[in-house]
Amino acid sequence: MTKFEALGLDKPLLDAITDLGFESPSEVQEKAIPILLENDTDLVALAQTGTGKTAAFGFPLIQKIDSKSRTTQGLILSPTRELCLQITNEIKLYSKYVKGLNVVAIYGGASISEQANQIKRGAQIIVATPGRMKDMINRGMVNISKIDYCVLDEADEMLNMGFMEDIKDILSNTPDEKFTWLFSATMPREVSTIAKKFMHNPQEITVGAKNSGATTVQHEYYVIGGRDRYPALKRLADTNPGIFSVVFCRTKRDTQRVAEKLIEDGYNAGALHGDLSQNQRDLVMNAFRKKQIQMLVATDVAARGIDVDDITHVINYQLPDEIETYTHRSGRTGRAGKSGVSMVIVTRSELRKIKAIENKLQTEFLSKKIPTGMEICEIQLYHLANKIKNTEINEQVDNYLPAINDVLQGIDREELIKKIISVEFSRFYDYYNKTKDLNISDRGERSEGRDRSKVEIPTSGSVRYFINVGERDDYDWMTLKDFIKETVGLGREDVFKVDVKESFSFFNTDAEHSEKVLSTFTEFKVDGRFVNVEVSNNPGGGGRGRGGRDRGGDRGRSSSRSRNKGGDRGRDRSRNNDNRGSRDSGGGYGSKKSKRRY
Ligand code: AMP
Repeated sequence: MTKFEALGLDKPLLDAITDLGFESPSEVQEKAIPILLENDTDLVALAQTGTGKTAAFGFPLIQKIDSKSRTTQGLILSPTRELCLQITNEIKLYSKYVKGLNVVAIYGGASISEQANQIKRGAQIIVATPGRMKDMINRGMVNISKIDYCVLDEADEMLNMGFMEDIKDILSNTPDEKFTWLFSATMPREVSTIAKKFMHNPQEITVGAKNSGATTVQHEYYVIGGRDRYPALKRLADTNPGIFSVVFCRTKRDTQRVAEKLIEDGYNAGALHGDLSQNQRDLVMNAFRKKQIQMLVATDVAARGIDVDDITHVINYQLPDEIETYTHRSGRTGRAGKSGVSMVIVTRSELRKIKAIENKLQTEFLSKKIPTGMEICEIQLYHLANKIKNTEINEQVDNYLPAINDVLQGIDREELIKKIISVEFSRFYDYYNKTKDLNISDRGERSEGRDRSKVEIPTSGSVRYFINVGERDDYDWMTLKDFIKETVGLGREDVFKVDVKESFSFFNTDAEHSEKVLSTFTEFKVDGRFVNVEVSNNPGGGGRGRGGRDRGGDRGRSSSRSRNKGGDRGRDRSRNNDNRGSRDSGGGYGSKKSKRRY
């Protein structure tokens, strides 16, 4: 018997699960499915997005519905059009072997009469956003007076978006005897109120810690002066060449402005906010899904329901007012078992907000430094060198080789490498060469730039290292931390500030471990490949979070073993110090509340 069979699911669902390739139930599925199948009960489930909760309510709902009857028996309410469509698609996939089952999505921004026609043809399950649902009830286009099950998905989000009254209205059109299943990532007072008012003795399940963010997300904050938010954002992007991120702003105006500036500066960015037409939003989301957009700048409302699994970073350009909103933001990364990073750009006066979130989520935030211009150059150099190394040779080049050789005659290998790297790197270097340090110390002072001429390994504080493995080798910050810890023989807390890039990474240890680290990784091979570690002069500093140990100060940059250092682009737009482009430009897209405050 498979684990899914053991939950009590019937063959048509099991067959669909096999097709989907799900091997075993997720935690929320394991907890919710037996309860919902065995009993007719109300349920409150605390679960984040990305935990498999659609199937947790979808499987039991499909199994309990009578597909021979055309009556609408199940209603799923969800906060956004995107989520509504996503749930509908998932339910269709899960019910592909259930004959006669019809699922219809109802949401704003599309033809209401077309949706009404679909319902007329018979829909046992309706997935709806509250606004459009209410509209259709008022116009007599839908009948939910006989439903047996009502699912409130992402209840906290719906209430955050101001749907409380709509939900109450909708529920008042449903029979009292129905069963209500409420799913929410957090449990603010408003959600408890709904649960108390509309549910009868609900069973409760919790996946992971209550109200906490996903554990696979590392939370980091960067303290800067108020005027440096935008340059800081760019530096964070430049330090992570493979970034695939959502950048959250507080207002539509800021969202549009930041996205426009990023596009202008050569980044693959796009804006997502409520002032865009549905068509514009669809364009942006499609481009984001295809990774043509690497930085999606969004408002909280517009970003709800983004169902993209491999977002590497969430960047809080500004902190939200409510802690729950922060949970939702950071929950956009670290999905589907992957790890992620949630970065917060703050001014000193906002530090208390970080403290409040830490307390609420029971998670420690790492205090990190915005990389200096030179540190970014170093990262980009490694990145470029790796890119050259991994570039597939285009055989067409052969035809031109004799002529090229003629041109390059007399240049030796080392010089040639330097020249190739410099083609890209010089422009890059020119941008960052004289930029200031953006970090603000705890006392409110701007940090001093580091003297790059010092190369000795520090004997106290902490040491930052470069290691030539990264995402490409299937590492994330957690697995790399484990690998280093186990290989060197260190404790879990001894390796910190692990930053995994595409083909290389950085990490810190206290200086007392540096000899052990460097000697372990001398001539060290994994699967026949050298794994190199050397002391870096890179960002990330030494401290382990706020109130942690020394922040590193001068880290030496030494390299006993030489490496070709390369850099990555940098567009020629030196209008101001930090004004440089990062990536190929991505085309010009873009163009309420829970009351818990800090
Ligand atoms: P959700 O939390 O419902 O948005 O689900 C996140 C993703 O996980 C969706 O793409 C689902 O298709 C997928 N998923 C759901 N359950 C499982 C499972 N048991 N095994 C693997 N993937 C799953």
